[in-house]
Amino acid sequence: MEAVTAALSVGLDIGATKTLGLVLDPDGAILAEVREPTEPGAEGIVRSAARVFEALRVATGQPLEGTVGVGIPGLVEVERGAVKHAVNLGVNGDWLPLRDLLAERLGVPVVLENDVNAATLGAAALDDATDLVYVSIGTGLAAGLMLDGRLRRGEHGAAGEIGHVPVDPQGVVCQCGQRGCLETIASGSALAAAWPSGGVPPAQALFAAARSGDPAAIAARDRFSAGVASAIRVLSLAVDPASIVLGGGVAQLGDPLRMSVAQALLAQASSSPFLASLDLAGRLRVIPSDYPVAAVGAAYLGR
Ligand SMILES: [Zn+2]
Repeated sequence: MEAVTAALSVGLDIGATKTLGLVLDPDGAILAEVREPTEPGAEGIVRSAARVFEALRVATGQPLEGTVGVGIPGLVEVERGAVKHAVNLGVNGDWLPLRDLLAERLGVPVVLENDVNAATLGAAALDDATDLVYVSIGTGLAAGLMLDGRLRRGEHGAAGEIGHVPVDPQGVVCQCGQRGCLETIASGSALAAAWPSGGVPPAQALFAAARSGDPAAIAARDRFSAGVASAIRVLSLAVDPASIVLGGGVAQLGDPLRMSVAQALLAQASSSPFLASLDLAGRLRVIPSDYPVAAVGAAYLGR
């Protein structure tokens, strides 16, 4: 019985609105999955995580004594187990030693990672891949890099911050302070600004309107997809990954998103035999909308 317990792994994906936790069996199958609203602030985050962890213990009927992997938005210093700039979670100011706070509350070892990096591991697990770029299109735009089987975080944790590559000198000012960043074109917040939809998720509303032939929607969709394609082109020319996986809230669109971005990649390659030969469109995947990619990746972190 003890061997079975040790082989289970737990991952938590702490998001601004919800905390999703799951337990993986030794083969990577999901044994239990729980989600709870995330309370903001350090104490709230810890309380929410503890509630989810307890519910997982009950659901599996196991003590769950192994290391828990945790993904969270913001700047994460993995070695110190600390997080900063998780603004949507009410974590501002100094580094928050969240790993140790969680370990104390849950009574098990914890490893902390940025949520996009955690999702990159989850995407790799899904395809049994060792070399990929994970492009997260959520409120913002960021990428995770798994290169030759290793996560590339970068010296300052900034590897993959593709959303803040400026591409339009006439563009709007980005929240990072630069002008015309990719994130101002190719992100959930850019979609919401381009296509106000009053409660309906803007990505869904925009793609539906474009599908029905609305010329303004088609133009907005194509501008967005060209932005995502530009991000993919920059990433691919920098690290040439075996596959490119789209995830994040906007990727709930599924295959229509993949097709639209693939079309933009083909358009960008139409004048360049060099770019066309790289077949970026052919390397494109999208995360299935019901796959909890960051929590799965977090569980692998704990192994
Ligand atoms: Zn920026």
